[in-house]
Amino acid sequence: MEILNKVLGVDNIYIGIEANKPDAIALMTEKCAGTGFEVVPLEVKYPQGAEKQLILAITGREVPSGGLPMEVGVVVQNVGTAAAVADAVIDGIPLIERNCTVTGSGVTEQKNLRIKVGTPLQHLVDYCGGLNGEPAKLIMGGPMMGMAQLSLDVPATRGTSGLLIFREGDVTLAEEGPCIRCARCVRACPAKLLPTTIAAYTRLDMFDEADEYNALDCIECGCCSFSCPSYIPLVQSLRHAKAAILEKRRKI
Ligand code: SF4
Ligand code: SF4
Repeated sequence: MEILNKVLGVDNIYIGIEANKPDAIALMTEKCAGTGFEVVPLEVKYPQGAEKQLILAITGREVPSGGLPMEVGVVVQNVGTAAAVADAVIDGIPLIERNCTVTGSGVTEQKNLRIKVGTPLQHLVDYCGGLNGEPAKLIMGGPMMGMAQLSLDVPATRGTSGLLIFREGDVTLAEEGPCIRCARCVRACPAKLLPTTIAAYTRLDMFDEADEYNALDCIECGCCSFSCPSYIPLVQSLRHAKAAILEKRRKI
């Protein structure tokens, strides 16, 4: 944090930690004594750690639609990045490792691991005692924002914060139904978007319209998909829309 402070030259540094981690709050408060850095306990909710939500929770500032945190005078770094900065600047170690949680009903021993970037996911599973039965779903990343994988024969990346393996009984495999206009996805969206509308435009390849509805403000939190009673893969549509809009902008 001292290195980041020197580089950025900011007036205030806050460390947001959800209130259900009192041991972390106590330890960081102790370590920050006399530094001017402030530990801020945060309401426990998802997605509290997302950049724009964190800025709003700590500073009360709202990043405008299509804008960057810099526009409200804020830079957000996650704890892994801060640690990587220290490793690089103090010890000259590049980003070759990260923390990764291997969990779910489909793995024999659930563990938090320190892994090398590039490690095959199968090696992580082997280290955790192997598979526990036939896996029905593999997810690289977290439960809400992770990406489904077809096999364990892929390498961990810098972003592999977790590996989730679920057996059949723990996975919702329901058929997608029609939109019943219940607006649960709208209420759930922390970015104040209309996920159902953007997804409908995306399915018709109407990306300009999806753009007009601010698809690029989607933080891919997955709350819309999670709340949809018709199991419509809304976040997948939003990701598709964002990729198509950005691709189009690159070509202009
Ligand atoms: S994933 Fe869904 S709920 Fe989350 S920001 Fe995007 S549209 Fe909103
Ligand atoms: S939550 Fe699902 S069913 Fe309800 S409005 Fe959104 S897309 Fe339609």
